[in-house]
Amino acid sequence: MQRDFSKLTTQPFDVLICGGGIYGAWTAYDAALRGLKVALVEQGDWASATSSASSKLIHGGLRYLESLDIKLVKKALRERQMLLQVAPHRVWPLRFGIPVFAGSRLNRFRLKIGLTLYDYLAGTLGGSQAHRYFSRGVFAEYFPCLDPSSLINGFSYLDAQTDDARFTLELIDGALSAGAVCLNYCKVTEFIEHNGRLCGAKVHSSVEDQSVDVFARQIVNTTGQWLSEIQPEPVEYRLTKGVHLILPKILENEALLLTAQADGRVFFMIPWYGLTLLGTTDTPYDGDIEQVKVEADHIDYLLTEANRVLKSVHWNKSDIIGQYAGLRVLKQSPKTSPSAVSRDWELKIAYNGLLTSIGGKFTSAREDAAQIVNTICHNLGLNESCQTDGKAFPWLPETDYRQWSATILANAKSLYIDDESALWLIKRHAKRVPLIFELIANAPHLAKRIIPSLPFIVADLVFCARHEMVVHLDDLLRRRMPLFILSKMTPAECRAITDIIATTLAWDTDKLNDELAICTRKGFFSGKTIQRLEK
Ligand SMILES: Cc1cc2nc3c(=O)[nH]c(=O)nc-3n(C[C@H](O)[C@H](O)[C@H](O)COP(=O)(O)OP(=O)(O)OC[C@H]3O[C@@H](n4cnc5c(N)ncnc54)[C@H](O)[C@@H]3O)c2cc1C
Repeated sequence: MQRDFSKLTTQPFDVLICGGGIYGAWTAYDAALRGLKVALVEQGDWASATSSASSKLIHGGLRYLESLDIKLVKKALRERQMLLQVAPHRVWPLRFGIPVFAGSRLNRFRLKIGLTLYDYLAGTLGGSQAHRYFSRGVFAEYFPCLDPSSLINGFSYLDAQTDDARFTLELIDGALSAGAVCLNYCKVTEFIEHNGRLCGAKVHSSVEDQSVDVFARQIVNTTGQWLSEIQPEPVEYRLTKGVHLILPKILENEALLLTAQADGRVFFMIPWYGLTLLGTTDTPYDGDIEQVKVEADHIDYLLTEANRVLKSVHWNKSDIIGQYAGLRVLKQSPKTSPSAVSRDWELKIAYNGLLTSIGGKFTSAREDAAQIVNTICHNLGLNESCQTDGKAFPWLPETDYRQWSATILANAKSLYIDDESALWLIKRHAKRVPLIFELIANAPHLAKRIIPSLPFIVADLVFCARHEMVVHLDDLLRRRMPLFILSKMTPAECRAITDIIATTLAWDTDKLNDELAICTRKGFFSGKTIQRLEK
């Protein structure tokens, strides 16, 4: 994946997509596969906004059944089932336990009905993926971290998990391979109209510090929380903020769905890269969309609710390893509670032809993007059907995935890569893993972990730096490899990491100092001072 700014002006495009989150990525990939000339521009890094701040779940959304959002849940479950098939490296099954405590808002009867409906909608009723019921004793054994004193019984059900930023990146790579021009750090600053119809946009690259006119027959606005900044007409939507905390490992391979006592909302404890993801909050937001922060009251809320059900640990603020916040775009609704508002998606077509994506979910973005591309094809008089439904993901190996994974694991052993790191390498890179092995064959020390407690090896980092369109340090350490949120990285550790990739990225001391300063400003080293490197 290489960045080539000159390609933006070499041709008029069929479609220009503004915003490289999951909606922009799927739209670009599908449109390019249908043979359209596609440009996709992102003002920051790929997935740098909401699409790297989600709960990382590929799910139907069990809780939406409470608001009888059956259509939405069914659509998302269909996507979940499909993604498990076509992207086994990118989307993997994750079982959730639901404890029923005395006085729980969700009692055994309501859960049984909800979970049966969930399985029915997913087409998994009665099969190995169906929900299960557990007596108090068995459930407590499964989840020894929970306080069993008021536990009555429990259930488990199946959903799926991903790494949202890498999911988006893989699709961008797929779009590039299908011929799209995809550029990060390129912002649409203004539209160009001809006779009242959009025909292009002014795009400014912060890397080249240069603006160019990009011409296209159709323009799509997938800018998420920024959608009204380039939308010519008022659009009705609201924003809510969601916060996640990363805490030490507490679960093995299964997650927990819990209900907060303070407000009855559902929240999760999820194993992710060997640690625990705790979230999310869901509160109305009318603050600065450029500065979405984790506030103290969100931390208190999550820690209090988690500690209420835990027995094996009592988490304090000092236990928090990492944190992040993101904004949801929700369609306008008369409902007052943010959690009760539908996560459904809408396509708005403006008088000048701009197509704007509003709301939606990470899980169902493919299906929504297909509708965007259908509209584009219709407007251009083309009869090209959706190419992404059931299509294997760009990095999925062509051979049998299980057999291929077993061979890769054996090869990893012979290169002295530990088993856990090897498993994550497969999930992160799939068919590109042999290229990482080649790096190690030439330099065996690259098989080592970067930080002993996390399953990332040095060769992975070098590979990402070299091949994944990294422009800034946080592209690499927050999204390509989420070290900034999975470790309380000390300045010395960060320095050691920048030493590894400086040559690969051709960064001199001044550039390194600038990048460290940017990351400090963004709060990745909160409370710690980064020393400038001496020239
Ligand atoms: C806390 C939280 C948890 C969630 N958990 C889940 C979950 O577990 N599962 C699930 O299915 N869904 C989940 N969602 C929903 C899901 O994350 C979002 O629906 C999805 O990420 C939105 O993607 P997007 O592409 O519309 O927006 P974004 O990811 O925000 O992308 C928009 C992009 O547009 C860019 N941009 C803006 N202006 C310009 C411009 N002028 N020029 C160029 N680029 C521009 C931005 O930089 C940004 O990268 C969650 C949401 C939140 C907030």
